[in-house]
Amino acid sequence: MSDKAADLSEFEAQMRRNGPMCSIATIREQLTADQKRNLDAAFGSEAIYASVIARVLGNWGHRVKADTVNRHRRGECACSR
Ligand SMILES: [Zn+2]
Repeated sequence: MSDKAADLSEFEAQMRRNGPMCSIATIREQLTADQKRNLDAAFGSEAIYASVIARVLGNWGHRVKADTVNRHRRGECACSR
């Protein structure tokens, strides 16, 4: 047993390399202040499905997959670096 703190840097480097590109951040930059606020609230609400967020973003002219929304929500995307 070692009491050395775990070093995840090697794993994290791999995660970055294989990590999916996240278009949510890019899209967010193009939104109006109102849209951003609403989007952030939607992300924060468990009652709002990722597929619904994707659809609304589509209505706003930004095509995105529900998978991407989900990944962003779980913090598994490039944004959480
Ligand atoms: Zn993201």
